[in-house]
Amino acid sequence: MSNKSLRVEKFEKYHGTVDEVKQQIEVCPKCGAKLTMTHLADHDNLYIHEEVRCLECDFETEETLHVLN
Ligand SMILES: [Zn+2]
Repeated sequence: MSNKSLRVEKFEKYHGTVDEVKQQIEVCPKCGAKLTMTHLADHDNLYIHEEVRCLECDFETEETLHVLN
């Protein structure tokens, strides 16, 4: 029986739906360029590590999304 729920901690500091939040994250907050995202899913530990960096400036961030079941 699988009843997974996705808890995305960083979304708490954004406003709007998940899709709207994704739009915000995909654009660099410093220069407005499209960000390059890397997702590394760790299925054993149930989390997704996400690396975001901007190719136009020096902005970069790392986030860990926890998937709890
Ligand atoms: Zn940038």
